[in-house]
Amino acid sequence: MNIMTPIQRPSPIVSSVDFDVDGVQHGFLRLPYSRDDSAWGSVMIPITVVKRGDGPTALLTGGNHGDEYEGPVALFDLARTLHAETVQGRVIIVPAMNYPAFRAGTRTSPIDRGNLNRSFPGRPDGTVTEKIADYFQRMLLPLADIVLDFHSGGRTLDFLPYAAAHELRDKEQEKRCFEAVAAFAAPYSMRMIEIDAVGMYDTAAEEMGKVFVTTELSGGGTSSAKTVGIAKRGVMNVLKHAGIVSDAPETGPTRWLDMPSSDCFRFAEDDGLVEPCVDLGDPVRAGDVIARIHPVGRTGQVPAEYRSALDGVLAARHFPGLVKTGDCLAVVATVEDKI
Ligand code: CA
Repeated sequence: MNIMTPIQRPSPIVSSVDFDVDGVQHGFLRLPYSRDDSAWGSVMIPITVVKRGDGPTALLTGGNHGDEYEGPVALFDLARTLHAETVQGRVIIVPAMNYPAFRAGTRTSPIDRGNLNRSFPGRPDGTVTEKIADYFQRMLLPLADIVLDFHSGGRTLDFLPYAAAHELRDKEQEKRCFEAVAAFAAPYSMRMIEIDAVGMYDTAAEEMGKVFVTTELSGGGTSSAKTVGIAKRGVMNVLKHAGIVSDAPETGPTRWLDMPSSDCFRFAEDDGLVEPCVDLGDPVRAGDVIARIHPVGRTGQVPAEYRSALDGVLAARHFPGLVKTGDCLAVVATVEDKI
């Protein structure tokens, strides 16, 4: 349950696009941001609306975290190439939600250190990041029938390429979410659990009853031809699945994975140098060593061994070569016939 502010102030964000007009509009969400180098300045978040007639609305977002790139690449490309004639309904595209973070190439905003995906429902009178969250919470999410939010691992994680949905209390809604995950047709499809779901955009969309799909499409603070291709095909597949673009989704083989409990996560309890013992997608058995952490203060020290608690495949790994105590070192997911 959200705690609402006693007086619902209007959002300070002004949209230069009209969500009710047919055609293609490229514009901005303009967020006033007064600062030393621009007294009456603004954060200008690019947005595209493509609309034709009546039909469902898809809300497509990337750059929720600023150092994840498949979503922004696929969505800047889609915003440029999607024609109104091919759409029945409405597509709202925000390729870089946390735009200050995206421009800085960082997970969180350089303005207020805000992690947009921990800032929901946001505040109209809060920080810049909270104001962006509030605009999505109160203005954009209510317009949507289906929501696709692209993520990847960013600079500190690397993932198998998957689309994902969460286990939900409303089983009918959950079923519709997993049907959309299947339509996305990434090489892997995941039932995902979160380490801490409070303040997430995912949770905000799901609590409104929306069909919500997220992704993790590799990471390391970059992208590849392969993972960008997965993102581009996946977003078109979701639009086709929603009936907004005609044609059937381009199906492909997917492997269903599950994160059955918090045992799937391994967190570092040491600082040091990571030695991966298995790679992404490799099969592991419960008890297998999946990584070692070598102390680096002196030679002759025994590395700490980190073992899988589950039978499955390595689905995520810490990305940089050095790790700190508390970092997520690895995620092992179980292989399922079908979720
Ligand atoms: Ca992310």
